[in-house]
Amino acid sequence: MARSTIAEIKDQIAVQSASSTTFTPATADTKKRKREAKLVSRPRHRGPFELRGDGLPDERYAEALHTMLRKCRRLVVVVGAGISVGAGIPDFRSSTGLFQTVKDDFKLKVSGQSMFDSSVYQDAATTSMFHSMVNTLHTLSQDAKVTKFHQMLSQLSTDNRLLRLYTQNVDCLEISLSGLETAVPLPGKAPWPKTIQLHGGLQKMVCAKCGWMASFDPTVFEEDKIPECNECKELETVREVVGKRTQGIGRLRPRIVLYNEFNPDGEAIGKVTSSDLKARPDGMLVVGTSLKVPGVRRIVKEMSSAVHAGSGMVVWINEQDPPAAKMFENCFDLILKGDCQEIPGILERWEESKTSPKRVASAKKKKKTSVSASGVVSSITSTTVSEKHRKITDVFKVKKLAVDRVKSAQLEK
Ligand SMILES: [Zn+2]
Repeated sequence: MARSTIAEIKDQIAVQSASSTTFTPATADTKKRKREAKLVSRPRHRGPFELRGDGLPDERYAEALHTMLRKCRRLVVVVGAGISVGAGIPDFRSSTGLFQTVKDDFKLKVSGQSMFDSSVYQDAATTSMFHSMVNTLHTLSQDAKVTKFHQMLSQLSTDNRLLRLYTQNVDCLEISLSGLETAVPLPGKAPWPKTIQLHGGLQKMVCAKCGWMASFDPTVFEEDKIPECNECKELETVREVVGKRTQGIGRLRPRIVLYNEFNPDGEAIGKVTSSDLKARPDGMLVVGTSLKVPGVRRIVKEMSSAVHAGSGMVVWINEQDPPAAKMFENCFDLILKGDCQEIPGILERWEESKTSPKRVASAKKKKKTSVSASGVVSSITSTTVSEKHRKITDVFKVKKLAVDRVKSAQLEK
């Protein structure tokens, strides 16, 4: 799917470049110059740069990041658990993450990840542990408040800059925000929702037998309960009345995708990614994920090639470095290490620094010596953007859910 699609996009771009340069043939050299000329927004150094919560942002990357998030029209964003840590939901793979907590809590001899494997349904004990864990995660998600970063993604969407948000998170925080809605199940054809849940979500439960679906009800998954499907039960009663043989009652399960199992939205996700590759994304953020899941790695790889074919920028934002795998060589144009929740503040401080009294004074001085129409326009634009952003961040001042709260919830448990 992907290779041919990317090749097609590259061909299209090559054809367009050739037709727009009628005086000089599009040799390899001129193509290279055209590509470089469009890369003004890319930073000279890809980093890694450390994300800081105070001070003037490092101009070696801030300008590029700012330009990207304020100018791109078809951004693709791929996120993982790291964006929800600030909301009090544990990540999965760090030393204090969910896999380790599960391993300790249930005194597992195997890794905590095995609790997210389809094999949990093979016996009653692991099924019960899995249900207990899912209920904890559901409670945490219900109590969590969306973070500044989630709000920023919502704003990008309402500003018509977001082509797609691919999320690996099952906490459903993003889909509660305007502009980031999803659909369950994913439709088999366009129009697709803005947010694609790659691994399902904890907002729904589904019958493994008949496919009946409803809002997630934690009481169904309480300890030692067998979550029988009422739809199947009713059907069984009817069959009994008319004298037909029984077919069995299905069990309900959270509509999330475990390791080593079929993804019911898999085919639709493939169609969305193909469509997004053809739409020529002009930038990509990969945030709060260690890219351990093969399907997600593939999406990032393919999207990054499409972004680069259009001279866009691919940014990595995470506490850790990007994977060292060969497939990600030259994939990321900018590496920002730290908490993604710092990003909205960094953009705000960068904009403020651009409109600080010193800069405004020097801009006025310049205007006196040479009145330039373009200069006037650019100063008005930057002020408006800054005011707009300040208003947005005022709205976004959500209380950060203290990590202590999660810890105390775990202790109580
Ligand atoms: Zn059923």
